[in-house]
Amino acid sequence: MTRKIHIGSVAIGSGSPVSVQSMTKTPTTDIEATVRQITALKEAGCEIIRIAVLNEDAANALGKIKRAVSIPVIADIHFDWKLALMAIANGIDGLRINPGNIGATWKVKELVNACQDKGVPIRIGVNAGSLHKDILKTYGHPTPEAIVESAARHIEILEAMNFNMIKVSLKASNVPATVEAYRAFSRQYDYPLHIGVSEAGPPPGGIIKSAVGLGILLYEGIGDTMRVSLTAEPLEEVRTAWSILKSIGLRKHGIDLISCPTCGRTRIDLINLVKEAEARLRPLKRNITVAIMGCEVNGPGEAKEADVGIAGGNGIGLLFKKGVVIKNVKEAELLDCLVETIEGLSEE
Ligand code: SF4
Repeated sequence: MTRKIHIGSVAIGSGSPVSVQSMTKTPTTDIEATVRQITALKEAGCEIIRIAVLNEDAANALGKIKRAVSIPVIADIHFDWKLALMAIANGIDGLRINPGNIGATWKVKELVNACQDKGVPIRIGVNAGSLHKDILKTYGHPTPEAIVESAARHIEILEAMNFNMIKVSLKASNVPATVEAYRAFSRQYDYPLHIGVSEAGPPPGGIIKSAVGLGILLYEGIGDTMRVSLTAEPLEEVRTAWSILKSIGLRKHGIDLISCPTCGRTRIDLINLVKEAEARLRPLKRNITVAIMGCEVNGPGEAKEADVGIAGGNGIGLLFKKGVVIKNVKEAELLDCLVETIEGLSEE
């Protein structure tokens, strides 16, 4: 079991629900656009937001952004301890900075003191693409062992200053290396882990890489907070993260849609029905299971087990609610009936 830290109001580690993070992709100094993006991400289920801080203007923008949003904010800073101090003064809830990259010990000490005073945890973020030269020389490549050793060095610096509000990430774009690095780290340390497959690429490949890597880790009980990194709109990252968590059964979030692949037995336009249903059901904030099945082979079984289900027939569908057939509906009316039935459920 990992230790517990808090990023603002969100608990991380020690069995807390695995939280979903994302990162803004707007220029941080464009406060309006950044707040708009964070608000949309929160609506989609983002629980913690990370913001890149490139310069003093960006660090100062954090204060206004923080006051305008209702989820915890993490400042992402590389090297510049002064920017980190400014970010803390602007009220951020978490900091991503590697202490070994800051320089003189007194600078690290000043930063650690500020974090300690304000209760701001630090994430040590090791990335296979930016390991120290000497570590790379020892291991030859960014191996899982090299990644863990790099994290260990940063941790040592903070531990020497009695700072332990630490969270760690060990990312690589290579899925097996990522999995092995997190496994090796969690055998040696109990700091909470931020998991992710770095630079996973665009969908659908990036989604698959993330689902495989994070799915393995989460199934093994490794990971306390997660970010899916996609070359795409950040909303995609949040939706993918939730799909992974729901698939493993770790958390519930909105409607879990089960549908069959269709085959030669299908006698309704199931693919379009499911596409339209997905779009109409997405805004409904109900943690229920909905099954949309093509025929009487597996249809009634799945539809019965779901909260609401459809088992298709020849131009018609049987509508199930809580395991019982409530209607025989014409194909053209199936979608409306399904949505009405689900909306009815939310009022019960
Ligand atoms: S549920 Fe029926 S239509 Fe759908 S894939 Fe299975 S056999 Fe085919």
